[in-house]
This record gives sequence, C-alpha cells and structure tokens, in this order.
Amino acid sequence: MTRLLIIGPPGSGKGTQAQRLSAHLEIVPVSTGDIFRMNVLEQTVLGTEAQRHMDNGDLVPDHLTNDMVRQRLAMSDVRDGFLLDGYPRTLAQVAALDGMLDSSSQRLDGVLELAVSDEQVVQRLLARADNRSDDNEDVIRHRLDLYHEQTNAVLSEYAERGLLTRVDGLGSVNDITDRTLTALAMTTLPRHVEPARGRRSRLLRY
Ligand code: AMP
Repeated sequence: MTRLLIIGPPGSGKGTQAQRLSAHLEIVPVSTGDIFRMNVLEQTVLGTEAQRHMDNGDLVPDHLTNDMVRQRLAMSDVRDGFLLDGYPRTLAQVAALDGMLDSSSQRLDGVLELAVSDEQVVQRLLARADNRSDDNEDVIRHRLDLYHEQTNAVLSEYAERGLLTRVDGLGSVNDITDRTLTALAMTTLPRHVEPARGRRSRLLRY
C-alpha cells in the first residue's frame, strides 16, 4: 500500500511524472488540477466557481478544494494507494489531509518534490501556452509567486516530518522518472512499504 504526494511548481512536469510513477507503482493518480478542469468542462457548480480562480492563476479556495479531495479519497479505487498530484498546496490543506487520513487510520508514505527553477518553468509553460487559458506570462508568474508564498511552507512541513524526497526535475521525461523511482526505492519505499518480492529491483530497472 503506497500513499504518496508529488509537489512541484506549475510546469515542473509533475502531471506527466505522476501518471508514469503511478502506473509503475500500480497506484491511482489523483490530480486536483485535472479534477477542476473536468468540472470546468462539464460546467458543474464547482467548475464554475473554480474557473474564476484558475483563469487568474489563483488557488481555488481551500474549503472547496478540501471538500473535493475528501470526496475523491473516499472512493474505493484509492483504498490501496494513491499518488496525489497538486494537493496539498497550502498549510490549511495539509491539515485537512491529515484529518482525512487520520479518520481512516491511514498515513502518508512519502512526499516527492520535483525541483525546477523559475526560469525553466516559465519557458516550459510558455511553450504549451496554446493549450491552457492559465498559461500566459503574467498568470504564470503569479502562479509561481503563489507557489513560493504558499507551497514552500508545505514542503518545509513535510521535510520536518521526515517525509520529503527532493528530485531534480531537469532532464528528459524518462530520466526524471528513473531518477524519481530510484530515489523512492532508496528512501520512501523500503522504510514504509513491505516490498513485494522483486519489487525493488523492478523499480530500479525501470
Ligand atoms: P495544476 O494542474 O496542478 O497546475 O492546477 C491548475 C490550477 O487548478 C491551479 O492553478 C489552481 O487554480 C487549481 N488547483 C489545483 N490544485 C489546487 C489546490 N490543491 N488548491 C487550490 N487550487 C488548486
């Protein structure tokens, strides 16, 4: 059973890595950004409310985000493990997640930080700018500012708890996945998870 978080600035490639890592670890990826975008597309009440914040590069308010995650983590497919991508982003969300996990006697196995410099992030996001309404330069810089203001505190909190593994997010998609799985196998997984026979070498061979 593996419960992980992946945290990185917008444009760090965390969504791509979350998909690859969760496929490899056979756990379910849960991306709050994807859930919000789906709600926007389907024009749900949550989507309409979230869109205003997303389009400005702001965070969706904690109570809406926490309620959404609480509902998602109550579903049966994540009972045996998940990789949360994009949550928690604030200390209030950390506290909410603690409460959700405590109430079902669960705990986190580890937190991955995908580290990428601001300039790298801006270049990458501008390159994909046609695809998303929140990818113009002002909005990107604002999202980065928020990341530093709010999410650095989340990283410090998990570092203090001894849960944080930092991975360099620069390089090819394959290299980063490889690097991340190696870091997990060396830190998080042996400490917290009964590895299935051969699991560790499978991870390292990816
Ligand atoms: P992402 O795809 O993770 O970059 O998320 C896209 C946008 O969704 C963010 O810029 C926020 O507006 C919103 N969002 C995603 N996750 C959260 C969260 N944990 N808290 C607040 N807003 C979020």
